[in-house]
Amino acid sequence: MPDAAALVVAAGRGQRFGAELPKQFLTLAGKPVLRHVLEAFAAHPGIAAVQTVIHPDDRALYVAAAAGLDLRPPTDGGATRQDSVRLGLAALADLAPRRVLIHDAARPFVSGDLIDRVLAGLDRYPGVIPAVPVADTLKRVEDGAISDTVDRSGLWRAQTPQGFRYADLVAAHADLAGRELTDDAALLEAAGLMVGIVEGTERNFKITSKDDMERAQGLLAGGRRETRCGTGFDVHRFGPPLAGGLTIQLCGVAVPHDRALLGHSDADVGLHALTDAILGALGQGDIGSHFPPSDPQWKGADSAVFLRAAGELTAARGGRIVHLDVTLICEAPKVGPWRAAMVARIAEILDLDPGRVSVKATTTESLGFTGRREGIAAQAAASLDLPSG
Ligand code: MG
Repeated sequence: MPDAAALVVAAGRGQRFGAELPKQFLTLAGKPVLRHVLEAFAAHPGIAAVQTVIHPDDRALYVAAAAGLDLRPPTDGGATRQDSVRLGLAALADLAPRRVLIHDAARPFVSGDLIDRVLAGLDRYPGVIPAVPVADTLKRVEDGAISDTVDRSGLWRAQTPQGFRYADLVAAHADLAGRELTDDAALLEAAGLMVGIVEGTERNFKITSKDDMERAQGLLAGGRRETRCGTGFDVHRFGPPLAGGLTIQLCGVAVPHDRALLGHSDADVGLHALTDAILGALGQGDIGSHFPPSDPQWKGADSAVFLRAAGELTAARGGRIVHLDVTLICEAPKVGPWRAAMVARIAEILDLDPGRVSVKATTTESLGFTGRREGIAAQAAASLDLPSG
């Protein structure tokens, strides 16, 4: 009978790279990052039970990620990772496994072999962690300049799953409660117990940045990528002429005009068309489905928020924006004098090279609603580079 339990720590908010969801719930090759982890442990013959620690706000996300897997009911985490592990260990009390493996939910590439090595290491040590030697030269930096070169010999990078004898780890958490330590191995070290190293893998990296997510997508897609194109179209109506004039928001720039553009948000027709073009290439609905006009929080909103969110969704899929092209359709105001500022602002919102952004303008020769100066229309195209599959 297996006597080891896996404790998956998925309580972090982890929105470090601005995505909509905590990173363990982002989609990686068609399923949440967390599900990759849960499947790896649930399928391992040496693991008797899988216990997950979640944030209470993420219960619905967890239920979706864990659907159909044979797992223990999740338990709520605490304010820190250490608290969350302690609470997860408490949730395993009725099972009282002999050994427990603590794993970060944001390391989706944990393999059966790696779990085997950690379990085997526990025959020799009270605690075992996978680690990889530091290959890069290490520099200590102060105020942007190197103050010292650190001798890297004997330095390793710690990974998870970190394995322990359950009773030892429970005791260490109780004894050292209130002391902030960065991982569970550090708790055992502080308790004076020996922690051994087994060989980790570069593939078992932790997803903490957009680059990591892109790398993960690339690994699972076999490195295959594809270019997708999406289009967007939007119209906003002008209000009556105002004496003295005002400015309207066009492609993120305040442009002087004699009539307001009407809309629930700041009515930036150019940014709305671009947002829809990106969402179109992602196949993820439209601006109204992400930011409903019925929601009062978007009243008067800076439309940069919408465009940035579409950029973040792209990054969360491991994608990048190759090119954006938007055409503003109106008789007035004149766009030419503001074009460079618009390109610069769109590039800034999305952290893109301005060479990947195009802003154009045309009139409709006095024909139709734009010709009658009743409103402004915008159409946009977005090209995205995305992992296949
Ligand atoms: Mg709009």
